[in-house]
This record gives sequence, structure tokens and C-alpha cells, in this order.
Amino acid sequence: MKSLNLCIDIDGTITEPYYWLASANAYFKSNLQPEDVTMYEIHKLLGVDQAIYHNFYQQNCEQLHSEADIRIGVHSVLTNLHNHHYLHFVTAREEKLTDISVQWLQKHQIPLDSITHLGSHYKVEKALELQADFFIEDRYENALELAEAGIQVLLIDCSYNRGYLPHNVFRVSHWFQIEKIIGDHSRRVPESLKLVI
Ligand SMILES: [Mg+2]
Repeated sequence: MKSLNLCIDIDGTITEPYYWLASANAYFKSNLQPEDVTMYEIHKLLGVDQAIYHNFYQQNCEQLHSEADIRIGVHSVLTNLHNHHYLHFVTAREEKLTDISVQWLQKHQIPLDSITHLGSHYKVEKALELQADFFIEDRYENALELAEAGIQVLLIDCSYNRGYLPHNVFRVSHWFQIEKIIGDHSRRVPESLKLVI
């Protein structure tokens, strides 16, 4: 029987975080490097209006998301975790990108139980509905909101998500660390069982 509900973000979490950078640099004639990406609002880094960045994104999102590189360890770790837990992908991508996301997951042979395209960064409601035991994320603001709602977050370290973390957000460096944390957590004896063992 499966035990935990794992909610997982896509961009920057199971994909490499900076896969859009080369295209953005070519489009905006900039030369941003991964370490320069110190905030999530990319248009501010590029010094352009949000609407102008949005145009670039709308023109290029299908190709960018289709060709995104996968992070190291994602395939093997999620394959192992899926033997014991439910995997629910929850992304801020727009719903029209569902086929692109599903094809990308299939291409990388990543198992899943559900996928939700919210079209918004607000993930708390969906996480509560899915009864998330862990939410794996890369966006700092999401981590704080989810933690505030009582959900444990594993925040995968990126140059744009550094900052104070509450007790139920844990910063991780890579997917093998995520596998170990979830494995250790699920092997713990629940309080309710201790009396009868
Ligand atoms: Mg993300």
C-alpha cells in the first residue's frame, strides 16, 4: 500500500532551473549567467517590463518546455519513490501546456498519479486537496505559503530562492537527498502504532 502524497513542482524542480536562460539571452541580447538569477521575476533582472518578458515567454514556451533538460537523479529517484508513494505534479504552467508537460514526462519515463496545471503560483489549495505530505519546490514564495498552511516543503536550492526558512521548509541540494529524507520519514514508526508494537 502506498503511504505518502508527494506533490512536485516541474520547472526548476525536476527540470534544470536555468534551461530558459540561453533563449532569453539571445532574445533580449543579454548575457545573464545562472549565478546572476537572484530573483524569480526574470523581467526585473533583464530590465524589461513584465509584458515584454511575457511576450517572449508566450512565443517560446512550448519549445522551451519541450526541450528542457532534466535534473540529475530525477528519473531514478521518482521511479523508486513511486513504488511506495503517490506522485502528484502541481505546476504553475497554463493548462494549454498540459500535452507538452505530459509528453516531456513520458519522454523521460517519469511515473505519475496526477498532474495539475494551475496557471497561477498559488498552490496551497491544491496541495491541501491532495493532502500533500511533502511538497517539492524551487520557488521561495511558494515554499513560505505552503509552510504557512502546515505542509512540509523540500526546497531545492537555486540562486533565486535563498532566504530565511521556517522550521517546516528544508533546503535540499539534489534529488538523492530528497529520496533519503522521504525514505527516512516513511520508515519512522507512527506515534499511533508505538503502543501496540
Ligand atoms: Mg518551479
